[in-house]
Amino acid sequence: MKHLGVALASAVLVTACSSPTTNSVPVAAAASQTPAAFVPRSGIVIHAGAGNFTLADLGERREPMREAMTAALMAGHNVLTRGGSSLDAVQTAIVILEDSPYFNAGKGAVFNHEGKNELDSSIMDGATHRAGAVAGLRHIKNPVLLARLVMEKSPHVMMVGEGAEAVAKEQSGIAFVDEKYFYTERSWRALQRELEKEKAQPQKPSGSAQLQPPGSPGAYFGTVGAVALDAKGNLAAATSTGGMTNKRFGRVGDSPIIGAGTYANNDSCAISSTGHGEYFIRYTVAHDICARVEYKSERVQAAADAVVQDELKKAGGEGGIIGMDHNGNVAASFNTTGMSRGYVGEDGKPTVMFTTEDAGPLGPQTK
Ligand code: ASP
Repeated sequence: MKHLGVALASAVLVTACSSPTTNSVPVAAAASQTPAAFVPRSGIVIHAGAGNFTLADLGERREPMREAMTAALMAGHNVLTRGGSSLDAVQTAIVILEDSPYFNAGKGAVFNHEGKNELDSSIMDGATHRAGAVAGLRHIKNPVLLARLVMEKSPHVMMVGEGAEAVAKEQSGIAFVDEKYFYTERSWRALQRELEKEKAQPQKPSGSAQLQPPGSPGAYFGTVGAVALDAKGNLAAATSTGGMTNKRFGRVGDSPIIGAGTYANNDSCAISSTGHGEYFIRYTVAHDICARVEYKSERVQAAADAVVQDELKKAGGEGGIIGMDHNGNVAASFNTTGMSRGYVGEDGKPTVMFTTEDAGPLGPQTK
């Protein structure tokens, strides 16, 4: 389908930029130029975490990551092409990423200071503004499914810990797992490294959330997220995470916070965030981008860059976002060297990228 002469699909998620800290993608025409009979282009965008990593840092993980991300994209795409909702598409994609050991969500969730896993997730329906969020889960295999259940089967938006798991017990369809399920050697080793560092710096508060300092090699957040637009023009967004390695017991980041980690509104856009959650909460990143699109008629890419490359970066908040607007224009912006991300549009051809190094043929779109 043609859209104002802009062949977005091939351009999408191409993030070669002259500066590794200004990572934005080309964007299609602004909403204000949309002709009356315009039919939105359905599609799905995913991320699998931002951080200061290089392709070399990903090493042998890169290909299995690419495979899982491609599978997630194609599963979401199949939902959309069968006439399914964007809500089902993002959920389907996230479940696949949660089931993979390669990402910091579900199976591959990172460990907190006590060596436990506490998982967070949220989902939002742009058509109705309904949302569901869960935090501090210890035994739920697919947190995004419980977030959806809270949204649809409870009068609440956000549930935490045992209370959230009790809701899951009352309903069918939510799989419980023993906490051992979440053990992966990679996450365990990452915790041991952080604990060693902490020992060497006893002045730091014990169990404080640890992030690699800006620019340090290998820093990798690994949260997963998805945004989609379906053929009816409905947007949805979802995010799922294990949080941050060595986080303090009970710490909740932005991923389950509606407006920070996840936001969807048919009048503007759908956003999923990844990065240092405390900053994304304080700058209400996902909502701020959509508000710019809605109130200032900014293009979703420009709005994302203003928040991620300017405001967040000035504040010291590392990370990025993926987004889609109500016309199917796609955005990705990150102020780290890497953000694993992928897109599939109506042509069914998936694109997966990891850092600023693996940009496609269309080159940088710097501000
Ligand atoms: N934003 C997540 C958090 O702070 C971490 C991530 O994106 O990897 O919990």
